[in-house]
Amino acid sequence: MTRIDLSDPAAIRREGAAWPWRIAFLVFATLLLIATHWPASEPSGNNVLSPDKLVHFLCFGGFTFLLWMTRWFRRFWVVALYSTAFTVLDEISQGFFSAHRDTSGADIAAGLLGVFAASAWMTTFQPADNFVTRQQEKQVIWVVDELLARPANWFLLAGAFVVPMLVVFLPLYILGWKTLGISVGNITLTLGILVGLAALGVVLRRILPDYLRRIETDRPCFECGVDLSDLELDADGSGHCGACGYPVHRSQWVRLPAPRIPLATILQADGALGLVCFAGYVLLAMCAAPLLLLANGHPGLASSIFYCGTFIAGALVWQWFRVLRNEIVEEGDRRCVRCRCDLTTVGVAGGLGVCPECGVNFARLHELVDDEGLGSPEPATHA
Ligand SMILES: [Zn+2]
Ligand SMILES: [Zn+2]
Repeated sequence: MTRIDLSDPAAIRREGAAWPWRIAFLVFATLLLIATHWPASEPSGNNVLSPDKLVHFLCFGGFTFLLWMTRWFRRFWVVALYSTAFTVLDEISQGFFSAHRDTSGADIAAGLLGVFAASAWMTTFQPADNFVTRQQEKQVIWVVDELLARPANWFLLAGAFVVPMLVVFLPLYILGWKTLGISVGNITLTLGILVGLAALGVVLRRILPDYLRRIETDRPCFECGVDLSDLELDADGSGHCGACGYPVHRSQWVRLPAPRIPLATILQADGALGLVCFAGYVLLAMCAAPLLLLANGHPGLASSIFYCGTFIAGALVWQWFRVLRNEIVEEGDRRCVRCRCDLTTVGVAGGLGVCPECGVNFARLHELVDDEGLGSPEPATHA
């Protein structure tokens, strides 16, 4: 468990931002326990395949993700360990406490695949080393924290996802079952989730601009949340937050352009051998294993393995992208991240400049000439 320092306003803000996630986690875990221990209906004659394994995958993956977001544990492997234990114990206890429910190895496997998939993503959330990049990432975290500090937004976003998801999934599922006599649980659930995510995207597009505008007008400190619109910055656009002492730079309230890196370049980030390993992994986890399980009459596990393989491949690609992006952004005050033209002779005003070739913003922490003497922009007192 992490301890908070009550004299540090940044720690208090992090703690405050974690609370909505803690409530969400406790509600989710309680519902999950009830759902998995609810007495199952009498085994009926007709063999309709429900998307049961896929639901296990999503629920225990969701459990892991929410536990991570509570910020109770700092290390991702601790979260992964607790989630693994919870998944196994939850399944074993069903056999003891619930009528018509048995401990199922396939259910445990599907749940654990969910834990693995969520854990793979947790490893990609380390903050960037570069100050400018890290502040750009903190913009996103600040918006998420502000958005979710309002309980109404939780209901709005949950509703935006769940309602369209069920509207698509349930009728198609029942239709396939009742009229065609085939079970299309996994496919219809996947379709429902995709529609739910699209609806969530539409709602976010409507409410996000307000929060993004507030970054420009309020100029918040991303550590403690204090409004810094009156803070005097030096000629290079740098300063320190009056409340928590963290360094700030004018560029943190501007959306800087992200480099455009082709997918082919990202996939080759680890060289030829890395690409071969990745291709082998995709072939095995996303093609061969699911097809083999499908052919042997395990469609539920097949879809869980396919989902897990896709999530982990996505996490890998995202991690490669981050490494390449950070390399490019690291020298973003000397070469434009978009058009790669030379910026060393281009002047800046208050820490921000504009690329003369393509017109995008770039940040420069200090003037190039006295780059060395000023040291790191990190705070000395906050470990
Ligand atoms: Zn602050
Ligand atoms: Zn440019």
